[in-house]
Amino acid sequence: MHKISKLAVLTSGGDAPGMNPCIRAVVRTGIYNGLKIVGIRKGYQGLIENDMYDMTPRSVSNILNLGGTILKTARCLPFRTDEGMETAYKHLKEQKIDALVVIGGDGTFTGALRFSKRYPDIAVMGVPGTIDNDLYGSTYTLGFDTATNTVIEAIDKIRDTADAHDRLFFIEVMGRDSGAIALRAGISCGAEAILLPEKTTAIDDLIENLKAGQHNKKSSSIVIVAEGDKHGGAYDIARVVQKEVKFYDVKVTILGHLQRGGSPSAFDRILGSRLGYAAVNALIAGETQKMVGLEANHIKITSLEEALNQHEFKLEEDLMQMAEILSI
Ligand code: ATP
Repeated sequence: MHKISKLAVLTSGGDAPGMNPCIRAVVRTGIYNGLKIVGIRKGYQGLIENDMYDMTPRSVSNILNLGGTILKTARCLPFRTDEGMETAYKHLKEQKIDALVVIGGDGTFTGALRFSKRYPDIAVMGVPGTIDNDLYGSTYTLGFDTATNTVIEAIDKIRDTADAHDRLFFIEVMGRDSGAIALRAGISCGAEAILLPEKTTAIDDLIENLKAGQHNKKSSSIVIVAEGDKHGGAYDIARVVQKEVKFYDVKVTILGHLQRGGSPSAFDRILGSRLGYAAVNALIAGETQKMVGLEANHIKITSLEEALNQHEFKLEEDLMQMAEILSI
């Protein structure tokens, strides 16, 4: 059983709205329980470069509403090497840090688990923070709700102009391996079609669907394309479709990095607070090599090993079918 007295927190991988509320919860829950707290800048890079600072409850004042992460984040190649891990461990020991909360995605968890197996005297706890919502062990990950709302807001605006000009828009959203944002945004905005990495939609079927929409007097059509769709990007698909669908003026919008930014939604603020609070309490209770998640509105603790092994992208067939029916 790990008894901890000094805890460090970092954010790693892609930034996600909700990371700041989570950092705040980690810092304040830790201090409330008598722990010393250290913030590590730029994820695992800060561990290797010894870029750390002591945190107090005031270090996290007025950050609940901020997107991004006050600790900054990075993708750090040297942490994948034995030497990198050894340097990170040396810096943690020098600071007498005995526990680590890592907020990030599956890459971050993979690094944390490898590190903790090598140096088991440092307890680790993962918090799922990624807009892609693609981690086993939590129904929702930090940032997914905010990112989806950002996408919806943008698509609503595009729908106005699409409708005014009888246009067909292909809108590319984030999701290299996961269509979670595309599917939720598609349902919320009444997209005529949703193209996801988990399912290959035949282009001929898409064209038939769009023709049927025009026959049914639709004045505009929106096709959402997750960036990991197997046909390529939205531009590639639009080029093919434009040749067959003459009745619409075809346009493409890539939403890009605006999807990562913005003030976290109420959902992500509460999720970040709950997961940060739970992560520290789990470490105090002696847990390590685990992640905290939310399932059926309850905190669930899953081993990192299981979370990473179970990791797979499942298509939510029922939601997909509903989206198709509701867009006739
Ligand atoms: P996102 O879902 O937003 O991409 P992520 O946590 O999956 O987040 P990655 O860039 O895959 O983002 O991983 C973050 C960091 O975790 C990497 O930059 C690297 O420092 C560390 N990491 C990833 N895989 C490993 C590994 N096999 N061994 C050690 N460290 C790793």
